[in-house]
Amino acid sequence: QWIYLNGEFVTKENAKVSVFDHGFLYGDGIFEGIRIYDGNIFKCKEHLDRLYDSAKSIMLDIPLTYEEMQEALVETIRRNGLRDGYIRLVVSRGPGNLGLDPKRCERAWVIIIVEQLAIYSEEAYRNGLVSVSVSQRRNIPDALNPKIKSLNYLNNILVKIQANLAGVGEAIMVNSQGYVAEGSSDNIFIVKRGVVYTPPCYVGALEGITRNAIIELCGKLGLPLKEEPFTLHDVYVADEVFFTGTAAEVIAVREVDGRVIGEGKAGPITTQLLQEFRKIVTVDGVK
Ligand code: PMP
Repeated sequence: QWIYLNGEFVTKENAKVSVFDHGFLYGDGIFEGIRIYDGNIFKCKEHLDRLYDSAKSIMLDIPLTYEEMQEALVETIRRNGLRDGYIRLVVSRGPGNLGLDPKRCERAWVIIIVEQLAIYSEEAYRNGLVSVSVSQRRNIPDALNPKIKSLNYLNNILVKIQANLAGVGEAIMVNSQGYVAEGSSDNIFIVKRGVVYTPPCYVGALEGITRNAIIELCGKLGLPLKEEPFTLHDVYVADEVFFTGTAAEVIAVREVDGRVIGEGKAGPITTQLLQEFRKIVTVDGVK
């Protein structure tokens, strides 16, 4: 396994970061999780756009141009001989001193890791996941904007811990006003009477690349879609519920907080969207 580390390829054992790195000390940095399907970097442009937008927003100077970054991704995949897998792209503020001032960090660090991915079973896609809502609140854009895909994932990790305690794979966060926001690392959709709903990002959700791909697919398939706030009540009484994310793709939810959703398995719209999604993953992107 070859890891891209600031322009060099090093082995896993030699891929090391300084204890003074502000990504490590403060979570000061950004990242992307990207899929490779049959050698295709799915939605490469969208991921890089989000990365460079996150960087601009936090005044992080990425030491590679957009083209160089894309080239680095392609080269890392090539070196590892992987045709299907997951790419983790991290840009941290880099090594500084112990103060939190980013001025002390001379140069951002760029790390690219490609790996096999542990994915849900086909059975899980057919039958759906069990999920729960948790007490952690998703921050709304008055605090750290959820559109910034930063290395600060502590809140999401607390959600994951609650999911683990409940014995479920993914949990649902609401915001401080009680509107459903997203999962620990997935966006959420519900379907009611043939209409697909997903929360607008301002309620506290990352603008997921998979989310946007599903919104686009709904348009192509003629499925009515509304981006509007909804509550846990709407989730409980929905005909279908599903999560979307780079790793999860489109995964049905069959039960939330003990309430059975619809027929208690992947519904027809979720199934259709998953099928259509899987048709574009090998073509929409960069080879
Ligand atoms: N929300 C959060 C908090 C996430 O970390 C992720 C995974 N990147 C998602 C949603 C899904 O986004 P995407 O479809 O871009 O993977």
